[in-house]
Amino acid sequence: MAGQTNAFEMAQRQFDHVADLLKLDPQVREILRWPLREFAFRIPVRMDDGTIRVFQGFRVQHNDARGPNKGGIRFHPAETIDTVRALATWMTWKCAVADIPLGGGKGGVIVDPATLSVGEKERLCRGWVQQMWRNIGNRQDVPAPDVGTTPQMMGWMMDEYSKLVGEYTPGVITGKPVGGGGSLGRTEATGFGVIYTVREAMKHLGMDPKTCKVAIQGFGNVAQYAAIGYAEILGGKVICVSCWDRADRTSYTFTKEDGIDARFLMSITDQYGTIDKEAAKAAGYVIEPGDAWISKDVEILIPAALEGQINAETVQKISPRVRLIAEGANGPTTPEADEVIKERGIFVIPDFLCNAGGVTVSYFEGVQNDMNFYWTKEEVLEKLDTKMTLAFKSVLDMALQENVFMRDAAYMVAIARVVKAMELRGWI
Ligand code: NAD
Repeated sequence: MAGQTNAFEMAQRQFDHVADLLKLDPQVREILRWPLREFAFRIPVRMDDGTIRVFQGFRVQHNDARGPNKGGIRFHPAETIDTVRALATWMTWKCAVADIPLGGGKGGVIVDPATLSVGEKERLCRGWVQQMWRNIGNRQDVPAPDVGTTPQMMGWMMDEYSKLVGEYTPGVITGKPVGGGGSLGRTEATGFGVIYTVREAMKHLGMDPKTCKVAIQGFGNVAQYAAIGYAEILGGKVICVSCWDRADRTSYTFTKEDGIDARFLMSITDQYGTIDKEAAKAAGYVIEPGDAWISKDVEILIPAALEGQINAETVQKISPRVRLIAEGANGPTTPEADEVIKERGIFVIPDFLCNAGGVTVSYFEGVQNDMNFYWTKEEVLEKLDTKMTLAFKSVLDMALQENVFMRDAAYMVAIARVVKAMELRGWI
C-alpha cells in the first residue's frame, strides 16, 4: 500500500532470497534489483477556481526484457517513489509467472482523487500523459487503472495520447470501459482466475469441490467473482464472505452454512464492496463483527480484501481443517504467518500467481486493440483459463522439483523467465 515504508526494500529482500536459491550471478542480480528506468515529473493543473496546482507524478519501468512494461497508475495521497518501484518490480514477476510477454511498470500521482472535481481529474489525467507520452506506448509501456483511478480516467488518458501521437491508439492503456476499447471478461478476470488456480490445486491435493467449503475475506471485485466462480464453475459451496463497513468502522462476516448466494449479495452491495446488513439479515445470513471468516471450519480460505490480513496473530485462528489458501489479494500473508502455514503443511497459491487473471485479461485487451478485433466473453475466459492453468502447473512443477514452498517456486519461475529473456536478447 502507498504510505508503507520500505515496500521497495521488501521487494528487494524477496528477490535476494530467491536469487540465492537460484544461485544468480551477482551481475544479473544488479540488473534485476533495481528498475531500469524511473520518471519523476511535475504536473501543473488548472483548478476550477482558476488557480494552478502542481502535482508530483511518477512512472517506473522495472524490466522490459520480456516485452513492453505493464502496470497501473495509482492516485493516492501517500504515494512515494519507493512504493511505485516495489509495485513495478512485482509486476515484472507477475507478468513473467503468468507467461504473458510483458515487463513490469507502475505509475502514480500524489493526490487524493476524492478532493478533485471531475474536470480537475480529467485535466490531471491528461497532464500525466503530456509528461509521459514519449515514454509510454503499446510497444513501450502500457499503463492501467489501480488504486484511485478508474476506467473513465483510462479513457481520457488514451484520448490524450491518441491526440499527441496523431492516431487512434487504444492499446496504449488497458482497463478502458467496454465500448471504449475495453475487453469483455475483465470484470470477472481476477476472481475467475483465482478459481482456475484453486481448481488445479484441488486436483493436485485430491480435494473435491462438492465436499470442500470455502471462506472468503472481502466482497469487492475479486471476492465477488471468486465466490461466483467457486459455486458456478466448480459446483462447490462458499459459506461466508466479509466486508469493511465504513459507517461502523469495522469488518463483518456474512455466513450461510448451506452456501451463500453471491449474486444476491452483489445486489445488496455498494460500489465499495460493503454489504447491506439489514437486507442480508432479512435473507437469513448470520452476521458477525470482526475477523470471523478466518476461523471458519472450512477446507479453503481465500483472502481477497487487502494486505497483511493473515498475520502472526490471525494465523493462530485458522481451523485445522484448512488445507488450501488462495491469495486473491496482494500480500495478504505476512512472513511470520507464512512460517506457521509452512509448518502446518497448508498449500498456498501465492498472490502474484493466484490473482494474475486481471493482468492477463489486460494483456488480452491490448492484443484485441492492436488487432482491432474483439473476442466474446467466452473466448476471453477460455483463453484466461488456459493461461492460468499453465502458470499454476509451471509453479507446481518447480515446487515439486526443487522441494520449495509455492511462493518461492513462483518467484523462481518468474525470475528464471526474465533472466532467460535477458540472455536471449544479449543483455547478459
Ligand atoms: P475492492 O476495493 O473492490 O474490494 C475490497 C473488499 O475488501 C471490499 O469488499 C471491502 O469492504 C473489503 N475489506 C476491506 N477491508 C476489509 C477488512 N478489514 N475485513 C474484511 N473486508 C475488508 O478491491 P478488489 O479489486 O476486489 O481487490 C482486492 C485485493 O485484490 C487487493 O489486494 C487488490 O490489490 C488485489 N487485486 C485486485 C485485482 C483486480 O483486478 N481487481 C487484481 C489483482 C490483485
